Amino acid sequence: MSNTSTTTTAPLSDAAAAFDVRPTDAPTPVEQREALLAAPKFGTVFTDHMARISWTAEGGWSDRRVEKYGPLQLDPAAAVLHYGQEVFEGLKAYRHADGSVWTFRPEKNAARFAASAHRLALPQLSTEDFLGSLEALVRTDLDWVPSGEEMSLYLRPFMYASEVFLGVRASQAVEYLVIASPTGPYFSKGVNPVSIWVAQDFHRAGAGGTGAAKCGGNYAASLLPQQEAADKGCDQVAFLDASTNTAFEELGGMNLFVVGADRTVSTPALTGSILEGVTRGSILELVTARGYDVQERTITLAEVRQGLEDGSIVELFACGTAAVLTPIGRLAGEGFDLTVGDGASGELTMSVRGELTDIQNGKRPDTHGWMYRLA
Ligand SMILES: *Cc1c(COP(=O)(O)O)cnc(C)c1O
Repeated sequence: MSNTSTTTTAPLSDAAAAFDVRPTDAPTPVEQREALLAAPKFGTVFTDHMARISWTAEGGWSDRRVEKYGPLQLDPAAAVLHYGQEVFEGLKAYRHADGSVWTFRPEKNAARFAASAHRLALPQLSTEDFLGSLEALVRTDLDWVPSGEEMSLYLRPFMYASEVFLGVRASQAVEYLVIASPTGPYFSKGVNPVSIWVAQDFHRAGAGGTGAAKCGGNYAASLLPQQEAADKGCDQVAFLDASTNTAFEELGGMNLFVVGADRTVSTPALTGSILEGVTRGSILELVTARGYDVQERTITLAEVRQGLEDGSIVELFACGTAAVLTPIGRLAGEGFDLTVGDGASGELTMSVRGELTDIQNGKRPDTHGWMYRLA
């Protein structure tokens, strides 16, 4: 794989121009970067820079900059370390065949980031600053955007409470950053069906809680159930709703879909405790356009067990930015262990996955206007 640096023809936006670029004094040598880009492992390799904006209650957002990637200074009394006041996002930058670099529906992530921040009593970052930070960082680290099948630069915007104060209230000081990590295929041996353990004794979110916000705390709560799933021999955990313990919500970090033999495609309705995935919303549009009967509704565990047993449910899949669509080949829980279809990757799952990744990689016309040029 080669990573030719692009002559950027897209004009720099005003939002990105607001960032002061302070280049690192120690960029990764070219040969080393190319070796890292040849086989990146998700979330282990980071680019040379990070975008950053600071916030205080008195001064608002200030000091938009792109600076050398490196450790953060945190006072041991920084609020985030004690009360978990933090939110994040996840997107990917894709290099198209002509060298241009694009991301997928980032306005959706900007809006969700603001909504998550609001729920965690963090300040809201404007869509302009969110998009500008992505563009400024990607242009600075343009040579880090890989090209090739299933390759992308994963972008991780996040915001945390930095105030030095152990009192329990919203932080008066906050840092916003974007870091970037080159990634290859999520599944190293090609897309293979995963197995799901349905948690019966744990929930990830409850009514009025933070389930609809993308915050680290939700992930912290999902780690023990995820370990339990692994102990049961499953790859991922699925959660049921906290009030009745009967209806599917989602996985720890992915939304869930059910495909019926009668050409219905269903996903749990957004009840306030489910994260509204950008991938989820995009899939709903793609399968609607294909003529499927699309339903956002309550999906019970009992109905899915029945459907898998009698063959009226033919596919299950999970979805999110990192893995796009992931076929589910097995669903297990206390007292049941069921194969989905014949246990192989579902036909609709793989077809929609192909359509979505083709749009993202510029191999299919972007008729929905989903792609956003970064460089
Ligand atoms: C990020 C996330 C998803 C997937 O959202 P996308 O926007 O599709 O990446 C689903 N569930 C949870 C809990 C998440 O944090």
